[in-house]
Amino acid sequence: MVYKNILVAYDKSEPANHALEAALELVEGDPEAKVNVVSVLTSMEEAYSFTGFGSGLSSETGSAALDYETIAAIEDTVATRQKDELTKKIGTIVPADQKDQVTVDIEFAPSPAAGVLSYAEKKGSDIIVMGNRGLGALRGLLGSVSFTVLRSAPIPVLIVK
Ligand code: ATP
Ligand code: MG
Repeated sequence: MVYKNILVAYDKSEPANHALEAALELVEGDPEAKVNVVSVLTSMEEAYSFTGFGSGLSSETGSAALDYETIAAIEDTVATRQKDELTKKIGTIVPADQKDQVTVDIEFAPSPAAGVLSYAEKKGSDIIVMGNRGLGALRGLLGSVSFTVLRSAPIPVLIVK
């Protein structure tokens, strides 16, 4: 198979599940090929909602008042938790004989599209596979994350419905 290093942009939506299934088909029969599943978290606000740290924040202090170490600690906690959850969730989709080919990561970035693109660069991915829609609005063919990644990626993008 041409594609050895596949990135799946994953947001737990049904189209993202289909994207993962398509990626697994692409690497089937090629044990050297890898699938990196990445889920991007976009803001500290989102992070707080997963940790319960949020109640300690007033609107006056805001995230800007937090020091780097605190932010890093929160991101670590969230990443570990989310990674576990994601691993469980995709475990129901990935067949046992393909488990070794799949890794899961949480990426923090200013936007989901920016996170997907920077992660692809970091990993040297040779194709990005993603859903046409996600967890957001239900109208229209293409979500904003798919649109932005498709427009900006320097590598092929496979959009799965
Ligand atoms: P919008 O977000 O524009 O309201 P939407 O949620 O329907 O619309 P997108 O967010 O563009 O559509 O989702 C399309 C695909 O992009 C998803 O199936 C998934 O593959 C990927 N994606 C979306 N959000 C993330 C994210 N936070 N991390 C990783 N991949 C994502
Ligand atoms: Mg979305």
